[in-house]
Amino acid sequence: KKKAAVIGAGIAGLAASIRLAVKGYNVDVFEANLYPGGKLSGFDQMTPDGRTYRFDAGPSLFTMPHLVDELFRLAGRNPADYFEYTRLDETCRYFWDDNTRLTAWADLNRFGQEVETVLGEPARHLHQHLNDSARKYQVTEKLFLQRSLHKMSTWLNRDALTGYLNLPWLGVFGTMNEANNGRFNHAKLVQLFNRYATYNGSDPYQTPATMNIIPHLEYNIGAFFPKEGMISITTCLLKLAEELDVHFYYNTRVTEIITEGKQVKGIRVSRADGIDTVEAALVVSNMDIVSTYRRLLPTARQPERILRQPKSSSGLIFYWGIKRQFAELGLHNILFSNDYQTEFKTLFQENNVSSDPTIYLNITSKLKPDDAPDGCENWFILLNVPNNTGQDWDAIIAQTRQNVIRKISQNLGVDIGKYIETESVLDPRSIEARTSSAQGALYGNSSNNRFAAFLRHANFSRQFDNLYFVGGSVHPGGGIPLCLLSAKIATDLV
Ligand code: FAD
Repeated sequence: KKKAAVIGAGIAGLAASIRLAVKGYNVDVFEANLYPGGKLSGFDQMTPDGRTYRFDAGPSLFTMPHLVDELFRLAGRNPADYFEYTRLDETCRYFWDDNTRLTAWADLNRFGQEVETVLGEPARHLHQHLNDSARKYQVTEKLFLQRSLHKMSTWLNRDALTGYLNLPWLGVFGTMNEANNGRFNHAKLVQLFNRYATYNGSDPYQTPATMNIIPHLEYNIGAFFPKEGMISITTCLLKLAEELDVHFYYNTRVTEIITEGKQVKGIRVSRADGIDTVEAALVVSNMDIVSTYRRLLPTARQPERILRQPKSSSGLIFYWGIKRQFAELGLHNILFSNDYQTEFKTLFQENNVSSDPTIYLNITSKLKPDDAPDGCENWFILLNVPNNTGQDWDAIIAQTRQNVIRKISQNLGVDIGKYIETESVLDPRSIEARTSSAQGALYGNSSNNRFAAFLRHANFSRQFDNLYFVGGSVHPGGGIPLCLLSAKIATDLV
């Protein structure tokens, strides 16, 4: 059997290892951390008296579950034997400081009624927006998401032609905010749909309106919840990979990709007991593309134009064990800022965090009660923040923590500060340190530019015949579904 080495056990590395094993490769995965999953991992917090809060560390919204199921089917397994998930009835609860509250229901007629009742916006505007999102998705999916953008064959087929003819309609020439202002009367609904730009770490006032395909995933295909939490996406894929005889080496950092002419010969790894060389017929890097070139291939030609693209936003996450329950909160909650444009200007132009940030609050114990002690809730609070350019994060975090407590307390009418009994924080520096993501960006290069899709690295190397790239920093982009697709595109090219 030919030997394949995968660098990193993030979600894309796991998916690539499964696909290669199914193709008949003998696969080894080398992971720098002690645990698999990269950003998609989990952890516990203990109270002094021994009660436990469980948290998913990174992703909290699960869309396109069929891409996970596909891996089990590919390996001849029944996905339901490994992984259970349900579709959410309620997609998200939205809160504004003026006490407006709106629930986005999975049942779109009910959501339409809610939008009419609460905001006075005709339901048909919502339906038009989501139908438009679906049609845009169908055109872009075939062109951008299922194939390598960097192979001639992609550009010479009928789907590509449909794509070119639809470029103006796809919204390539205007911004998301302009399109949403044209669609909706109510500023709050514009804000609600502008937020989807943050799903790939971009700015709605800059990113092209093409990104209005994102709501299609959440509303038309649906938002899902894995029964055992987001971490179970990682653990079920790990189980499948191990059943396919993929070997995982943890606490093993790859320090070099060894090349000779146009061939990759293997990798150099550093473990607790020393340095080792591993030969491989094929190497797949799930490490961030900037770090892969700069650290593992320093003498190879560096694709500077791609590596130097501005990076997406990062995240600041507070994980709080809260010793109280709040009936007005659901699994996914958003507390909007009062001035969205200023918030994004602060983020992308001033590289700072707004004093009134939009707060995303996720509580898995709402659906999975054993994630928090009785009568308590596990709060995962995520703010979109700039990527790391050396800001004084300790000062930013201290100030932002106060702003977040103030805003949530005001919305709930309760001083929530006194209910926080356990706490940890993840910030752009720690995201960078734990996963090698350049500047701690959550989604690789930013998509604030209409050519962004073309400025992501391909899923294969042009310099080395047997080197491939997967994960959130390469084509087609970040987020679990796109990372899973990157593994499909890369291994289809093998
Ligand atoms: P990563 O998760 O980045 O993992 C890379 C792995 O490679 C790591 O384990 C790292 O240790 C390892 N590695 C790196 N270098 C080396 C080396 N030299 N040697 C050995 N190992 C190495 N997505 C969604 O779909 N929905 C969400 O709701 C969502 N929310 C998010 C919230 C947060 C806070 C974060 C951080 C991300 C979120 N995302 C979300 C994005 C999603 O988590 C990522 O796009 C995805 O998990 C990235 O997977 P990846 O395969 O690119 O690898």
